[in-house]
Amino acid sequence: MTRLTTVSGLFLTLTALFFIPGGTFAQSSEASSWDTAPAWQIHRQMAEAKSRALYDQRYVDRIVSASAAANTQTNYDVKFYDIHLRVNDTTSILYGAVKMVAEATEPGVSQVQVDLFDNMVIDSIVSPAGALTYTRASNMVTVTLDKAYNPGGRFSVTIGYHGHPTEGGFQAFSFGSRLGKKVISSLSEPYYSRTWWPCKDRNDDKADSFKICIEVDTSFYVGSNGSLDSIRTASANSKRFYYAVHYPMVNYLFSVAISPYTIWKQYYWYNAGKDSMVITHAVYSDRYDYSLPRWGITPVAIAMLSQSYGQYPFITEKYGHSNFEWGGGMEHQTMTSMTGADFGFQEDVVVHELSHQWVGDMITCKSWHDIWLNEGWASYSEAIFYLNRDGWQGYRNWMTTMDWNHNGSVYVTDTTSVASIFSRTVYDKGAWVLHMLRGVIGETKFSQLLNTYFNSQYRHSSLTSAEFQALVESVYGQDLSWFFQEWLYGTKRPAYNWAYYTEPATGGGYDTYIWVSQVQTTNPLVFQMPIEFAFDYSGYPTDTITLVNDARREILKVHTAQQPYQVTLDPGGWILKYQTYLDWNMRILTTSADLKSGKAFLPYRDTIEQKGGIGPFDPTFVTGTLPPGLTIDANNVISGTPTDTGTFAFTVRIRDMYSGYIDQADLSIRINPADYKPGDVNFSQFMVDLSDLSSLVSYLTGGGYVLPVPKLADVNNDCLVDLTDLSILVAYLTSGSATMVIGCAS
Ligand SMILES: [Zn+2]
Repeated sequence: MTRLTTVSGLFLTLTALFFIPGGTFAQSSEASSWDTAPAWQIHRQMAEAKSRALYDQRYVDRIVSASAAANTQTNYDVKFYDIHLRVNDTTSILYGAVKMVAEATEPGVSQVQVDLFDNMVIDSIVSPAGALTYTRASNMVTVTLDKAYNPGGRFSVTIGYHGHPTEGGFQAFSFGSRLGKKVISSLSEPYYSRTWWPCKDRNDDKADSFKICIEVDTSFYVGSNGSLDSIRTASANSKRFYYAVHYPMVNYLFSVAISPYTIWKQYYWYNAGKDSMVITHAVYSDRYDYSLPRWGITPVAIAMLSQSYGQYPFITEKYGHSNFEWGGGMEHQTMTSMTGADFGFQEDVVVHELSHQWVGDMITCKSWHDIWLNEGWASYSEAIFYLNRDGWQGYRNWMTTMDWNHNGSVYVTDTTSVASIFSRTVYDKGAWVLHMLRGVIGETKFSQLLNTYFNSQYRHSSLTSAEFQALVESVYGQDLSWFFQEWLYGTKRPAYNWAYYTEPATGGGYDTYIWVSQVQTTNPLVFQMPIEFAFDYSGYPTDTITLVNDARREILKVHTAQQPYQVTLDPGGWILKYQTYLDWNMRILTTSADLKSGKAFLPYRDTIEQKGGIGPFDPTFVTGTLPPGLTIDANNVISGTPTDTGTFAFTVRIRDMYSGYIDQADLSIRINPADYKPGDVNFSQFMVDLSDLSSLVSYLTGGGYVLPVPKLADVNNDCLVDLTDLSILVAYLTSGSATMVIGCAS
């Protein structure tokens, strides 16, 4: 029997819920073990439910993979589906008639390909002009149209069919039961619509609208998409549910949930209470009491998410929940399907699936590589909900529970693996990508991004990760490829070892040295991120200083008027990271960028600076060497005359012989080629002047001068260094008129 129960006491206004939190419901409810579960456990349940179902399906049925999507389907654009289904719950046979209205996108389109599993029996395929011919192969129906259509030319194809949709451990269309009551439901994500209804089964072509008519036994209620326009008697034993979807919808979101549910309703009030939208809950009758306070948060959750994302995207239709026999939740457009277990009534699960109405349903990932745009966003939306309801602490706490040692990249490289499409990394690290993006671009730009994104050309459409990146960059006004490269396509996270040291500065105030080293051995080896450091003082407001860190080891020197009693790395928790604070002891301050470059055959001198050591020091080379001709002494002074060119990289370990402290650093020195100038007799590589003249005089008069580079003194290029060269040099120095060249003397 059907119990259509309307609970009038639950027609609540938002105001009532805001001011009497938790006190609105007379019914009490037992606690759930999920109440205290962290986000990652919730997402593991969500992700594993999705991936397990799909894995079973693939394993049992060898269902075609997403990569099998035919490129030939790009020759038409679906506008509208009119779907009539009759469900025989006794024989478990589905009878369907699906009319697809589409437009050609290429000249001369005379054939179109429609996805439908081979086991479903086609009874007829017709157009308004009459019967159409077709062939079937590899779960694809190739239909020959009544004529050729040019771009914009509109045609319709109506496919009549019946059959028992392919079964597996779980399946896209399931004839199940619970406590002796039938539960018939669908879950088509990611590419299983084709197992039970003929369609162009791709994410990148949303139909603009749907009409849905489902005929079932009179004992059932049917939850489906869009607005429920009417329920009409079809026969003595059956009735029809008429739904209309007025917004674009991607195939995999078309769903049915059929069972003798208990129905209860709420309203979401908006426009200052002048308008309302119905919320329909189709719950298993034994879960009705349990559902009241838990699904009852829905109007508040819609308000909370609308606050950040803009108005609920299907505001002229409805929202709701239908229980179904599957281990998780599925964000079917305007009617989420939820497990009847406790998990399906959990606050964060309700919020997660609701948020998919914006992220996943209104804006859909264009391919399954980009699933984080659905699942990462929805997981992040939970934190948005807690931010808007509970403030920043609630937000941070929730983000923290999604911080674990994620594996793999957020971008899914292998879409044939359902486990990787629906992995927890996609959910949890995907949420962190958005959180970190917020940290990088700042609050003002992030709120502009939300406003732009949810009103962009991708609204009621789909997009790729690259398109998302381009949109973010257009809002931010700067390139962010480094960010997406490391966080979306890269794996793991930075591990920061760090230390700081404060001392009174000459001239007043204090200097603080912050030493940061990235020590992760995973890819990427270097993360570029702005790292905030908070400086806390006694009796003065906290300062925040940002280091744009993009090297394995960096030193930041900060001058402050007051003495900080504490410095904190990333106090706001904006970076997914590991961090280890080390004692300062002694740290090398010099980086490769600090060491001077030299020139071949010119004296070189620089010092590897440290802070904390007393000296003398005992520098040794762990790897590499100094440029030939250079040495380092017990004061860490590098000196000598380099005799070779190039970049010389080395790892130097410095031990303070006084304290025993040790630090090491990867450094490099670049030695540039010598600068040969004609007349530069003494090879100063600087300028030609009187000292060159006196050197040449000394050489020519037996004064004992040794020419370092004879060809520089052979300014007339006769392969001799003699008095002729001297007279040319004199003329050059006195009148500047003489021409000198590098000669051939050796
Ligand atoms: Zn989700």
